[in-house]
Amino acid sequence: MSRCRACDVILNDYEMTRKSSVTGEYYDLCSHCFSYIRHDVHSKERIDLKDISDDVEESDDEGLTDWK
Ligand SMILES: [Zn+2]
Repeated sequence: MSRCRACDVILNDYEMTRKSSVTGEYYDLCSHCFSYIRHDVHSKERIDLKDISDDVEESDDEGLTDWK
């Protein structure tokens, strides 16, 4: 069992296996804390372990993604 290094919550499988594609090290951050750094890092995610609740920022809502 792993806990978030930032806020100490227990990590789920998806969060536990998220690691840097650069260093190969696990982030050990929950999705909430990781959302703060996800734009600055390149992570190797286990998509197969991902579920809807792990999507903090990415949304499938149409109409909100045409700002670029
Ligand atoms: Zn956290």
